[in-house]
Amino acid sequence: MASEYGGMWKSLGMDLGAHDQLLAVLGQGYTDVFLSQANRPKGMDYFNFVMSEVHGLRIKEMLEAREQGEKIVGSYCVFVPEEIVRAAGATLVGLCSGADFAMEEVERVLPRNTCALIKSSFGFKLGKVCPYLESADMIVGENTCDGKKKSYEELNKLVSNLYVMDLPQTKSENARALLKAEFVRFARAVEELTGNPITVESLKKGIAITNAKRQAMHRLEALRKADPEPISGLDALLASQVSFYDAPVRFTESVNALCDELEERIKDNVAVFPEKTPRILMSGCPMAVPNWKLPWIVESSGAVIVGEESCVGERGLRNLTDDSGQDVESLMEAIVDRYFKIDCAIFTPNEDRADHIVQMAKDYKADGVIQYALNFCQPYQIEAMGLESRMEKEGIPMLRIETDYSPEDAEQLKTRVEAFVEMIG
Ligand code: SF4
Ligand code: SF4
Repeated sequence: MASEYGGMWKSLGMDLGAHDQLLAVLGQGYTDVFLSQANRPKGMDYFNFVMSEVHGLRIKEMLEAREQGEKIVGSYCVFVPEEIVRAAGATLVGLCSGADFAMEEVERVLPRNTCALIKSSFGFKLGKVCPYLESADMIVGENTCDGKKKSYEELNKLVSNLYVMDLPQTKSENARALLKAEFVRFARAVEELTGNPITVESLKKGIAITNAKRQAMHRLEALRKADPEPISGLDALLASQVSFYDAPVRFTESVNALCDELEERIKDNVAVFPEKTPRILMSGCPMAVPNWKLPWIVESSGAVIVGEESCVGERGLRNLTDDSGQDVESLMEAIVDRYFKIDCAIFTPNEDRADHIVQMAKDYKADGVIQYALNFCQPYQIEAMGLESRMEKEGIPMLRIETDYSPEDAEQLKTRVEAFVEMIG
């Protein structure tokens, strides 16, 4: 890939040597984790292709579209309203933050005990290895947890195009008003960036594109309720991860084609794991590309992952935006309503999330929940303590895992996961 796209990456100011190293590790990781799986659906070929071209073809097409005037907005959080970005004729990409890179440099600007996700976002910038970050016309940060909001003060010194969105921390009326005001301010900012006014028509179009993507993913999630499961949890997670940067209409078509195939598989009783394989619901911090460590350990320990209560999963994708409004104001209200339901652990109190995990465990017929938090992530770690007693009350076995992106604890995690799987099996 290097020779074909070297000129493009160079023009983005990337460090080609460091980037080659990253691609080599990514490629090997992908082969070991994904391509080694048995009996994958044919529809996953598309996602293999997307991953093989993740820093190549997709960037090329985004840059070509930018030459025609389509701006690129990068985001770190599922609170950034995709409908508004699309309504202004821009494209939205997730900035992944799922691997350690340039850690020595990162720890010169951030404390060591910062979560891996935040450190990763800095590593990709300082190491100059992310073409999405380097192509973005606007990078949106959001004031969620303390780690993120303070680190944006530092990120602002490294990039010239950071836009910081304030976010509420409670679900009160005042909090909703803050979210509404911030979404209106954001709409003005993307209008200014693109030069395109947001109208009823463009907003309806942005909602339709985004909802279609979510509906396709809802269909995929529903098919994972089958026992035996027609797709591995790893492959379903990959589809969620790809949803953050693929062209949305093409992505929706590909997920729907995959779902057609999975429906056939269910009819023909074709599965990736045998019937009665212990079923796990993953819950907790988002797993961005290429953070596959824990799911890989789970699925190579005799269990299947049936759902993700995560921002890269159902927390980020559930709930559609109502498109029935007839003016910009009511459509904006509908967008606020949809995002205000996201039950991220930065909210207090956040009982909705616990209820949702219990509901998901029932819906997906999970035998147990693995609650995953990154080291130093206080919101998800503290919630995990409360969740433990709630799950106990509900009679749902739960395993609490705290980890990071390094492979060092893999053996130890495998031992714990295997013991848990044996217990629930
Ligand atoms: S966990 Fe919270 S802060 Fe992180 S992406 Fe999700 S909503 Fe945003
Ligand atoms: S909510 Fe947790 S995982 Fe997410 S950025 Fe903050 S500390 Fe990191």
